[in-house]
Amino acid sequence: MLDVHFFRRWMAITAASVDREAERLTALDSPIGDADHGTNLQRGFTAVRQALEKEPPATPGAVLTQAGRLLISTVGGASGPLYGTLLRRTGKALGDAGEVGEEQLAEALRAGVDAVMQLGGAAPGDKTMIDALVPAVDALGDSFTAAREAAEEGAVGTTPLQARKGRASYLGERSIGHQDPGATSAALLIAALVDAAEAGGE
Ligand code: ADP
Ligand code: MG
Repeated sequence: MLDVHFFRRWMAITAASVDREAERLTALDSPIGDADHGTNLQRGFTAVRQALEKEPPATPGAVLTQAGRLLISTVGGASGPLYGTLLRRTGKALGDAGEVGEEQLAEALRAGVDAVMQLGGAAPGDKTMIDALVPAVDALGDSFTAAREAAEEGAVGTTPLQARKGRASYLGERSIGHQDPGATSAALLIAALVDAAEAGGE
């Protein structure tokens, strides 16, 4: 079972990984965006990490809803409301359970990803974070490791696609040949699940 400590680790590890990869995320957002994706997420996840340390929420659902709220209020750009919705909706689906199973997390994340698709109007193949998140959720039923691989493949697989949503879509065919920054950061979020599970403890 996954307890509140697991969920706090998940967010803390994601924050560390976003810190480490911020320059790369911003560099990916440079040819097909406005070169702010890394700094946007860094600002958001720094706020999440600080809040988790200061006032640690008591349940898995509360960790994610708090993180989602903070991302919405601190991240400028499209990705803030989208990631915020992902975590808030996932947290809401977990309810106030003290511990959740992997299957329950997979179902909740599915609800979160559906909410992102509804909010942003993107479907798989549109060259967005959805291209990493949907395969990840599909694979989550097998294992966290399978989800990490599926998300990474999905992110890399955005390179040949033409963007149909978000800022990159303004470029039309010129968006082809670049990996999507949001799909890349979504793969970091999913990869952090594996690390959070391996880390164990409090
Ligand atoms: P902005 O585009 O406002 O500068 P960011 O640079 O932080 O915001 O995030 C860009 C990423 O957001 C894109 O790479 C893409 O993955 C994701 N994105 C943008 N629009 C959408 C959308 N409508 N649905 C899903 N994801 C989107
Ligand atoms: Mg941007």
